[in-house]
Amino acid sequence: MKSAFLLIFLSLSVLLHAQSYQRCDYDRYLSELNRSEEFRRSTNELEEKLKKASKQKTENVFIVPVVVHVIYKNSTENISDAQILSQIDALNKDFRKLNTDTGLVEPEFSIADTKIEFCLAQRDPQGNITSGITRDSTNIDNIGTTDQYYVIRPAWDRNSYLNIWVGDYGTDGQGNDILGRSSPPNESNPNKDGVIITYRAFGTTGTASSPYNKGRTTTHEVGHWLGLYHPWGVNGVSCSDDDLVNDTPNQGQVYYDCPTNPRISCGTKDMLSNYMGYVDDACMANYSEGQKERMRNTLVIQRTNLLLSKGCLPVGLDEHKKGRSFQVFPNPAKEQLNIQWEGSIDEKAKIELIDIRGAIVYSCGMNERTKDILKLNTTELENGIYVLRIRGEKWIDQTKVIIQH
Ligand SMILES: [Zn+2]
Repeated sequence: MKSAFLLIFLSLSVLLHAQSYQRCDYDRYLSELNRSEEFRRSTNELEEKLKKASKQKTENVFIVPVVVHVIYKNSTENISDAQILSQIDALNKDFRKLNTDTGLVEPEFSIADTKIEFCLAQRDPQGNITSGITRDSTNIDNIGTTDQYYVIRPAWDRNSYLNIWVGDYGTDGQGNDILGRSSPPNESNPNKDGVIITYRAFGTTGTASSPYNKGRTTTHEVGHWLGLYHPWGVNGVSCSDDDLVNDTPNQGQVYYDCPTNPRISCGTKDMLSNYMGYVDDACMANYSEGQKERMRNTLVIQRTNLLLSKGCLPVGLDEHKKGRSFQVFPNPAKEQLNIQWEGSIDEKAKIELIDIRGAIVYSCGMNERTKDILKLNTTELENGIYVLRIRGEKWIDQTKVIIQH
């Protein structure tokens, strides 16, 4: 009952702010998903794991392959490749703290380099060459509000790609154009896992129009996709819950346009420049260190397999299409992992064992092996999932390895 009241309060505050855009449809989508007991259970499970997760010691760059699905009714909505590239560029600048407007961030707040990057896919789920862009025409209006986006083009394997659909999202109950929404990290339907962005707020050129033409709608939605909430939490602007991140002050108000500092709510000064708020693109400029930690932990815990994706490996670099030329055993391994080859071996190849956070924990040259087998001592390695990667001059192959003592 309480949360119903708060939701009405939030809706009212949005309504009273008469504007033609609604920045984000995430809270509404979450409340829809939360009707399912199974979804609520999986959210609680994920939150328990995130609570226990420690700050990552190694900060290797995570690279997330992206596919952009353009869904258009007319030539205007069939946005150009250049516009799509401008969005990937903006996304990388924002996530790597390479944006030039960090001066907007008040000095007491942190500006994180999340060390998460995005690349347009180079191979599709079948291993074929791709531009990382698909295009479908449709007669359906409002691909977001009608929930038809993924019917027109189902997601590519969410374990290998971040799916971004771009089209005409549709309007909310008050006639405001909705800019975007995301799936939560534990989206229950794999075919719809990803983010949906209106073509009016995608990228920095073409159909992207002011004040939403700096690509920040996608930066914001990908934040949700990696587990972030709005700074006011999910129960509206009541100060009763927050975003589960320690260094983002709880917000008792939703800010629009370009508010001037300072603004106080829930007893603290608000971080108006945060990407997870609703201000204009030109007035947001940072993720905090706490948000970075939550996103990286979400990647490792919930979106684990993305870190093993071959989506951005160019086709042709992989000469092992007929199956692996090596075997790994035992797997799971306890104290020793054996890597055995068949046939000819590229003496210049390198063997690397990489942990789930991207750190290389073991590396050696192929010439260091004894005969056709390499015996790797694993006693010092922590339990967990690893990637064994073998890299030649013109090929690369990898497989998943589990260490369990
Ligand atoms: Zn949002």
